[in-house]
Amino acid sequence: MPSSLDSARVAVIGGGPAGLMAAEALARQGVQVDVYDAMPSVGRKFLMAGKGGMNITHSEAREPFLDRYGARREWIAPLLDVFGPDTLRAWLQDLGVDTFVGSSGRVFPTDMKAAPMLRAWLHRLRETGVRFHMRHKWRGWGLDADAAAAHTLRFETPDGEHTVSRDAVVFALGGASWPRLGSDAAWVPLMAARQVPVTPLRPANCGFDADWSVYLRERFAGQPIKPVAIALTDVDDKVHNRQGEILLTETGLEGSLIYAMSAAIRERILADGEATIALDLVPGLTLERVVAEVTRPRGSRSMASHLHGRIGIGGAKLALLHEILSKEAFADAPGLAHAIKALPVRFTRARPIAEAISTAGGIPFEALDAHLMIERLPGAFCAGEMLDWEAPTGGYLLTACFASGWVAGTGAAVYLKALKARGALS
Ligand SMILES: Cc1cc2nc3c(=O)[nH]c(=O)nc-3n(C[C@H](O)[C@H](O)[C@H](O)COP(=O)(O)OP(=O)(O)OC[C@H]3O[C@@H](n4cnc5c(N)ncnc54)[C@H](O)[C@@H]3O)c2cc1C
Repeated sequence: MPSSLDSARVAVIGGGPAGLMAAEALARQGVQVDVYDAMPSVGRKFLMAGKGGMNITHSEAREPFLDRYGARREWIAPLLDVFGPDTLRAWLQDLGVDTFVGSSGRVFPTDMKAAPMLRAWLHRLRETGVRFHMRHKWRGWGLDADAAAAHTLRFETPDGEHTVSRDAVVFALGGASWPRLGSDAAWVPLMAARQVPVTPLRPANCGFDADWSVYLRERFAGQPIKPVAIALTDVDDKVHNRQGEILLTETGLEGSLIYAMSAAIRERILADGEATIALDLVPGLTLERVVAEVTRPRGSRSMASHLHGRIGIGGAKLALLHEILSKEAFADAPGLAHAIKALPVRFTRARPIAEAISTAGGIPFEALDAHLMIERLPGAFCAGEMLDWEAPTGGYLLTACFASGWVAGTGAAVYLKALKARGALS
């Protein structure tokens, strides 16, 4: 479709949900868009996120939804006001993908799958003229990098180095988790070399190490522990208390409940070198009830079968009690009852970022304007997980990636219009 921007050329680097959405926003304005990605195909992490059910967004009301972005709430709000969960669902419907709200409030495509959605989207992007260049790894800027209106970008390709010049660029290079899917954070030193601030990347939605004994590791790794509740006091002395399920791993604990609390646990470890959570192994029972049950006379029954008979504790829960309590503490019924309601589990470190579901840290919003343009680099925009925000799983990650991609893409179009008005567009 011809438009006033049809002579403008923009590079979108990174073909995840954020980059593809930026490409769509630009293509709708008639801009010539080239998407570059280091991998042989785009959207690999998006497809991985869709394994076992594509949880694309959440049906929660605006305020609790925004609360999921914690300290970055105020920066994410304007993005979601432009392209929030309802807009995302309408956009999906326009793509031919119907969605439904699951019992937990999470939103999924009707067929639960990511691949058909990605296929339909790529097809539509190609139809609007977006061109894709795979196996193009961005390696930095060319020598004329300081020329304000032109972005000369260097790519490593199977055919050697390739340099292109564009009127603007949208970076959507992702974080550092699951690097084999493409996002390896190789952009961090490239941005830092141009004096773009980057908050250190850290694992988010990740597991934590608790230095288990060989016995616990060998006998119980891989077992779910549910229901449980976790209490944790964060670095600001706010007490977090949530119920859910966790997974005992070879090195510690992970699972949805740990992920949901991972930011608070991680920050506590960063501040103190360790973090101790209190595990409630029977969240459905009050402390009084547990004390009453555990201290009942048990005759000749072992404590283990007493616990199993009275309050249903066995398996991995029992193993955790043995792991953490001394023999004496385990034999002291009133003390044991209190430990069952608040078992201290000490974490010493987060799992490596490569294993995490997402990344905290990145380019801070303070370095960007309202269109997500890097203030130090006019014409260079940023979107997605490479920005400094984090959120729990539940569709909040993808929603903010789509929203920021849209805002960066439309922002780049605004920038190009201003260039054109000044007669500075080639
Ligand atoms: C196992 C798993 C489960 C998940 N589940 C959910 C979920 O249920 N709900 C949810 O909301 N989110 C989920 N996520 C998170 C979600 O997938 C990410 O937040 C999202 O994909 C990030 O989008 P992005 O576009 O910012 O980056 P990415 O999707 O990481 O895309 C970045 C792209 O940039 C490319 N790239 C990187 N560096 C370069 C370079 N130098 N040159 C060229 N190209 C480059 C990469 O190849 C990649 O294609 C999950 C993630 C994982 C790993």
